[in-house]
Amino acid sequence: MFDETKRATVLLVDDVPANLSLLSSILRDDYRIQLATSGAKALELVAAGAPDLILLDVMMPEMDGHEVCRQLKSNPVTRDIPVLFVTAQNQVDDEELGLTLGAMDYIHKPISPPIIKARVRNHICLKLQTDALKRLSLFDGLTSIPNRRHFDDTLDNEMQRAIRTQLPLSLLMIDVDYFKPFNDHYGHGTGDACLIQIAQAMQAAMNRPMDLLARYGGEEFVALLPGTSLEGASNVAESLRQTVANLRIPHAGSAIAEHVTISVGVACRAQNDPKSTSFMLRRADQALYQAKQSGRNQVRHIA
Ligand code: GH3
Ligand code: MG
Ligand code: MG
Repeated sequence: MFDETKRATVLLVDDVPANLSLLSSILRDDYRIQLATSGAKALELVAAGAPDLILLDVMMPEMDGHEVCRQLKSNPVTRDIPVLFVTAQNQVDDEELGLTLGAMDYIHKPISPPIIKARVRNHICLKLQTDALKRLSLFDGLTSIPNRRHFDDTLDNEMQRAIRTQLPLSLLMIDVDYFKPFNDHYGHGTGDACLIQIAQAMQAAMNRPMDLLARYGGEEFVALLPGTSLEGASNVAESLRQTVANLRIPHAGSAIAEHVTISVGVACRAQNDPKSTSFMLRRADQALYQAKQSGRNQVRHIA
């Protein structure tokens, strides 16, 4: 078994403790195991930290397996966790219902240890591959922070939420100052290392869980700050600017400082603004342009 597979977590859900013991004894050498004796307990464990696979009994008192599956699939955070039903029922209708609810597969009781092992291994391998692809498609390969696609998707969702909730939404457009001369002077490899260091430092400096920092392209970053006013966003922007300056990365090619600096444009959505994301992006970009025009290494917003 691969090491990576060994780190995978399987949640076993069954109201009969003897069933849990049996499944656990079959799988515990290969995976981390979590146990739940009720649907409610299972949902609680999933909320505390998503497992990679759930083996779910159908017939349970209070909340049955189908209801657990329904709830998991209706939540975007838990929707992609594969569910295998383990059931004594062998009616076709029942199986069809489970699969319609989004379950990956059915395993029938009485269970066969080698078959359980093989099925679980297949589904775990698939899950780990899917996770890896998701990481590749949403995270920037150089800096490991969210990429532009990740940002664009989140911006669309947060824009809808801001319209619905009438809460403010702010956006920062961030650009490294004189980065072309930096590359020319220190070489592309040092340039890459500089981008990594800046990205990690800025991410560490953003502390609200809803905030999202992304690499927008080249030496440009964006930050999305849901529920944040123009004043709050300007404060975050200023703290990012200081964070990068405090890294004191030497920059012999900069016309304005001896170390690497950034310029930041701030935009905050007003309730009567157009409902388009491009309007906000344009505003932040205009503010960034002003920051550059005014001498760089500063934060600007458009009133
Ligand atoms: P300004 O202060 O006006 O922003 O000037 P600048 O030199 O930063 O702006 P410009 O847009 O002219 O140059 C950006 C440079 O960023 C071009 C390229 O050399 C560099 N760059 C873009 N992406 C990467 C990357 O992934 N790695 C490295 N090392 N450099 C990059
Ligand atoms: Mg630049
Ligand atoms: Mg640029």
